[in-house]
Amino acid sequence: MGNIDLRSDTLTKPSPAMRAAITDAEVGDDVYGEDPTVNRLEALGADLLGTEAALFVSSGTQSNLLALLTHCGRGDEYIVGQKAHAYRYEGGGAAVLGSIQPQPLDFEPDGTLHLERVAEAIKPCDSHFARTHLLCLENTVDGLALPLDYFRRVHAFAQAHDLKTHLDGARIFNAAIKSETSVRDIARDFDSISVCLSKGLGAPVGSLLCSSAGFITEARRWRKVLGGGMRQAGLLAAAGIFALENNIPRMEADHQNAALLAKGLAEILELQIDYSAAQTNMVFVEAPEAQAVGLAEYLKQQGILIQGGKNIRLVTHLDISTDDIHIVIRAFKTFFSQ
Ligand SMILES: *Cc1c(COP(=O)(O)O)cnc(C)c1O
Repeated sequence: MGNIDLRSDTLTKPSPAMRAAITDAEVGDDVYGEDPTVNRLEALGADLLGTEAALFVSSGTQSNLLALLTHCGRGDEYIVGQKAHAYRYEGGGAAVLGSIQPQPLDFEPDGTLHLERVAEAIKPCDSHFARTHLLCLENTVDGLALPLDYFRRVHAFAQAHDLKTHLDGARIFNAAIKSETSVRDIARDFDSISVCLSKGLGAPVGSLLCSSAGFITEARRWRKVLGGGMRQAGLLAAAGIFALENNIPRMEADHQNAALLAKGLAEILELQIDYSAAQTNMVFVEAPEAQAVGLAEYLKQQGILIQGGKNIRLVTHLDISTDDIHIVIRAFKTFFSQ
């Protein structure tokens, strides 16, 4: 029996059908623009997101970095969430490789950046300051789907303040399903959007950066500079196409499983559960400090993997079934009843 791995939705493994699509992929040299499967994935991604073009890249980190390098020059600044992936979890790439300064701000509880705080953070046009050029948002943030009307306001705000906008939409498909809209509807308010294929969509590798044709031409150049030009990448792109064609509608089940998990765990008095109405595929659990290590160890013995510690993030994904959720709830209850 395999493990029930709730640590992240990056842990999904390619299904037999996805592996067959990989095996059958037609390939060419993508640096020459001659890989038909990569070209098909990029066209499909652009079509889904409603942008002129898309670029297949190795990871979400590379996708965000390419967006930053393409939007911003040396001495420019981007405004971003203090806990945003594109600031906190990407090794400082924008500063290291782009001489781009981040201006982090705290997220509001719903995952937005307060536009008044953003306005205050925009630097005056004066040689003392970096040039504030880009506003970077994330959707979902800690699994929360941001309110749709917020994006409409962001769009108007950015135009009024002459800012470009980038959306780290690593989990934009989860967000769209939760918001009962299309990813295109979320994407239309942004100048560039990054989408992960290797999270809930279940592909083994890859992200798409989506934007205008001119922007993507420039990002493609930066991708090569970063060593991200891949040759017969159609083998990987085939998995991405399979994911986009087959694994979007089923994400609703991940959200239902997360809600079921939250409800089951809420019956355990020792635990504090956070699963708000805007939540998608993550359940946040606070366990008593004294039992946190024992809990993770006990669950591991039962074939259930969680990230250890007092504050636990449980993530549902396509390798977690509803039966698995019932097993997990039972194991948590057994641990706290002994
Ligand atoms: C996972 C993630 C990324 C980066 O993806 P990698 O493929 O792991 O580099 C970027 N942004 C968010 C919000 C993510 O969750």
